[in-house]
Amino acid sequence: MDCIFCKIANGEIPATKVYEDNTVVAFNDLEPQAPTHILVIPKCHISSAAEVNEENSAVIAHIFEVIAKLSKDLGMADGFRVVNNCGDCAGQTVKHIHFHLMAGREFTWPAG
Ligand code: 5GP
Ligand code: ZN
Repeated sequence: MDCIFCKIANGEIPATKVYEDNTVVAFNDLEPQAPTHILVIPKCHISSAAEVNEENSAVIAHIFEVIAKLSKDLGMADGFRVVNNCGDCAGQTVKHIHFHLMAGREFTWPAG
């Protein structure tokens, strides 16, 4: 499968990683939309939030533990935003589930 985030997870494509463990990797977004813009992904390929199920949801829960840890380690006490785009209408361009972790500026709501 030709998946860019699988390749980042296994080291085939370089990325600036800020966190890695057995099941999850977090790295800086190539085109940051905020002073801090990190992508948190599972190492296993799940194509989108629509494909989360009983068998793979533990890694998604773990991603949120990692997000909480990163928010503390990287000084996001003022707040941060977590975004998941699912499907074409929502603007998902990479079909490997990922959570945008953004901080360092104010965010408007509702998101456009
Ligand atoms: P989406 O639009 O699917 O929610 O988010 C995909 C994100 O992946 C975008 O913010 C884009 O900048 C980022 N991205 C795409 N290709 C690469 C890459 O090769 N390396 C990194 N670090 N980020 C990427
Ligand atoms: Zn993948």
